[in-house]
Formats: sequence, structure tokens, C-alpha cells
Amino acid sequence: MRPITPPAMIGIVGAGQLGRMLTQVAHRYGYQVAVLTGGDKQTPAGTVADIEIAAEFDDPEAVQRFVDCVDVVTWELENVSLDVADVAIAASVPVRPGPRVIAAARDRGAEKKAITSAGVPVAPYREVTSPSELEEAVIAFNAPVIIKTVRGGYDGKYQVRVASSPSSEFAGIFESLGSDRLIVEQEMLFDREVSVVVARAADGLIVDHGVMENVHVNGILDTTITPADILLQVSAEAISIAGKLADHLDVVGLLCVEMFVVGSELFVNEIAPRPHNSGHCTIEAAVASQFEQHLRAICGLPLGDGTCRPAAMAQLLGELWDTGEPDWIEVLSDPKVSMHLYGKREARQGRKMGHLTCVDTTPMLALEQVLAVRERLL
Ligand code: ATP
Ligand code: MG
Repeated sequence: MRPITPPAMIGIVGAGQLGRMLTQVAHRYGYQVAVLTGGDKQTPAGTVADIEIAAEFDDPEAVQRFVDCVDVVTWELENVSLDVADVAIAASVPVRPGPRVIAAARDRGAEKKAITSAGVPVAPYREVTSPSELEEAVIAFNAPVIIKTVRGGYDGKYQVRVASSPSSEFAGIFESLGSDRLIVEQEMLFDREVSVVVARAADGLIVDHGVMENVHVNGILDTTITPADILLQVSAEAISIAGKLADHLDVVGLLCVEMFVVGSELFVNEIAPRPHNSGHCTIEAAVASQFEQHLRAICGLPLGDGTCRPAAMAQLLGELWDTGEPDWIEVLSDPKVSMHLYGKREARQGRKMGHLTCVDTTPMLALEQVLAVRERLL
């Protein structure tokens, strides 16, 4: 693979905060960036990129314009049409990770099949396409179960939890979720949730950032600490699973693997072939952050050292803006806490607006500091 070197143009499909932070790193490396936003203007990534193409992902003219101006195509989201990949490949522009990886990550049915075919366990599940199949599955799994749409979910959206088996609401669930294919999963009584972000180069070399431990509130990632407070052997197994899946899918770029820890067992929840919310603390905690590793991998450059010092991240959601702009002086008055805002103009309930990180001698010390600062913003 011939390296793509600065000042080449990196093409990012999607334009949220992940694209923004990837753009910022790409600029630091001397690259230029074009983003295809999906429709919106003045997006978090588009406002810092060199070129913002505000068009749908399947708009043929815009997709062509995007592909014509970039040297490599990558993704900051997976719930996306693959038209861009087709057009890029036809124009001999590399797409990294490739469309097969995106196809496996954007459809929970395909995702579970890809994971299990690599020999990696997932929570017991069934894909169902009718209310009667749904009823059978709920009974077979012994509620509680989590029912998810196959496509389009994020931040716990398009999911319902069914707490007890006897229910006549099965047709209603299909209607309320607005999908004709659903995944029914056994609710896992997990001890912890963890994730591993690995970067994989085109030659197959894999570098990880260690294991992140994540706490979700209302389906949205709220805090991450690293390293996760789990046994060394479980941690090694989590890292090995992430590497195995990256190999299996032939990922070039990042792969984040979210897992449930149950005792000393691990079950994969889902995968994301891109920078991930749980990897944000790598910006301050590692020599090469997840964004740098992604950029290096897709450009065919050597990977950096992803080892993280103990760190924590706390998300800043839209509700912090309920009574006006939060008091950022409070954040900055703690010299050890780093602030990231995504430049979103409109704050909404549950919308990810920014995050705080801290690096310290232990993950718990780091967590205490980001939580204390966030508390003061309320
Ligand atoms: P993301 O924002 O990570 O893309 P998502 O909307 O795709 O989220 P999931 O990761 O599937 O959703 O689920 C969100 C959260 O809901 C999980 O992190 C976990 O806390 C909980 N959850 C999901 N599935 C299960 C399960 N089978 N058992 C227990 N908890 C679950
Ligand atoms: Mg998830």
C-alpha cells in the first residue's frame, strides 16, 4: 500500500464530533479534510474541515463531487448508505475501512453473524420479522429481553426492554420501532461494560489502547475510565477478541468492540469501525490517540503507541444547557481537567455536546475530578 502523505485530502463520510476530532488531528498532521455531512450545514466536522459538502449520503452529484476531491475515503458513522464506497472504488480511491466492514457494523443481524462466525460469543439473540416470531423469542429467552431495530439505532434509541413475558403488545412493538426486522436479545446481567479500541494497519499489525470501562445512563455513554477494573486475564481476553474481530473483518483503521463482562466471561454487544466515544480519553492519555491511529492506518503510515495512562472521561449532554450556557470557567479552574466542546449550535436533551477528560495516577482519581467539575456545571 502506497502511503498517503500530507497534504493529501482525507474524505470523511459523516460530520459529527468524531469527524471533528479526526479532522483536527488530520490538520495537525498537515492533511486537508473534506466531509460529506448527510445533509446538514455548519456541522461539528464541517465547520473545521477544508471542504463541507452538505448533502445526503446517496445524492449522486454530491457523492461524485466528494470522491473527486479526496485521496482516501473513511467513515465516522456506520448507519450510512454505501453509495460513496461504490463511487470511490470505481474511481480507484481507497475506502478504509472497506464497505464490507461497514455493511457488517450497520446491520445488527449481519453484525451478530460476523461476530459469531469469528468464534466470539454474543448475548443470546434471535432475529424476528413478525409479531408471532417476536412472541416466541420473548418466551424462549425468558424476559427481560432487549428488542432492537436491525438498522439505525444509536445512544440506546430504537430499543425497548420487555420486562415480563406475557404481553399482547408484540404487533405494537413492531409499529413503535418502525422496523420489519428486529433483534431480540437476552438482557445480560453484566458486572461491567467494557470496550476495546484497536487500530489495524493494512499489513495486519494491530495496536490497542487497553480496556475502557464504560457506564451508560439512559442508553447513552456517560463515563469511561481506563484501565478497566477487571482481572488481567479478562482484560487480555477482551483485547484479544477485539484483535480477532479486526482481523476477521479485515479492518484497515479503527475497530471498537463493546463487551459485557459477566463473571470472567465476555460477550460482545456491538462493534463500530471508527473512532468511538469510549476512546476519547486517548487524546490526553496516549501518545497516539484513537484519531491519530485511525488516520495513520487509513493513510498507510506506521501506527503510534496507543498505551494509555490512567484516565477518565465524562460526557457533557444537552441538558447541561437547560438554564443557559454552562459556566466554563468552572471547568477550566481545575487545571488537570481537559475540555472538549463539539461546536453544536443547538443543545437538546441527550445530545452529546462535549466531554471532559482527566489523566491521573489512578483511573478513580481521574474520574473523581471530571465528575466533580461536571457536578459544578449543574
Ligand atoms: P451506541 O450508542 O453504543 O451505538 P446503541 O444504541 O447501538 O448504542 P447498544 O450498545 O446496543 O445501543 O445498547 C446501549 C446500552 O444498552 C448498552 O451499552 C447496555 O448498557 C444496554 N444494553 C444493550 N443490550 C443489552 C443486553 N442484551 N443486555 C444488557 N444490557 C444491554
Ligand atoms: Mg453501544
